[in-house]
Amino acid sequence: DNLDLWTRSDQYHNSFLIKPDPALEATQNNTREKGIKYEISVSPAQGKFLHLLLLSIGAKRVLEVGSLGGYSAIWMARALPDDGEVVALELNQLHAETIEENVKNAGLASKVKVNVGPAHASMQAMHPETPFDLVFIDADKPNNTNYFIEAKRLVRKGGVIIVDNVGRSGRVCDESYNNASAEGVRALLRHIKDDPEVEATTIHTVGEKGFDGFTFAYRK
Ligand code: SAM
Repeated sequence: DNLDLWTRSDQYHNSFLIKPDPALEATQNNTREKGIKYEISVSPAQGKFLHLLLLSIGAKRVLEVGSLGGYSAIWMARALPDDGEVVALELNQLHAETIEENVKNAGLASKVKVNVGPAHASMQAMHPETPFDLVFIDADKPNNTNYFIEAKRLVRKGGVIIVDNVGRSGRVCDESYNNASAEGVRALLRHIKDDPEVEATTIHTVGEKGFDGFTFAYRK
């Protein structure tokens, strides 16, 4: 079916562009062994996209909302200079411990700070001296708009906010499809429509994670 084709195409491109990566493989294996759904992380191609985007904008500080086992956090931390930082917000205690283990094993403990608790409260409590260069929102989708509003406050002007999983196999555009995650994306789109503080676009994606997409917002 389509997923097989999209997966093959992803893997074909990856075979030229993304080298085997023992640290990231160990991360996914360790996360799986804890019984965590490691497969809902971003794909290798998406992780590398985040990595390259951070290099392109010369990012030093990243905020991640929803970190699972730290797979995307590791891709992003590797793009930062020695004094750079990924602040990873994660609700689940086991996930948070797993992120700590995985980033330590990847040699990135000094660059990833895990903050355990509900991400919206964590964000509201943050008043960083230096704003973030990029915020990656990838947690509970019904809270997308809450996260987005705080992300705008926490990111620098000219910075980037990325919201993952906004395509959802096309179910977002089917307003008769009644689902809290899809509705969380629709509410975000309605919010951004009249938001003078950002310019945004959605890029739909197909690949080994199926048919999905991300919204890329530029903070004006
Ligand atoms: N960004 C990760 C990656 O690509 O490797 C995947 C993140 S996973 C899709 C979503 C994560 O958000 C889960 O680990 C879940 O525990 C976390 N999460 C769910 N609700 C949350 C909340 N209210 N606050 C913080 N984290 C939350």
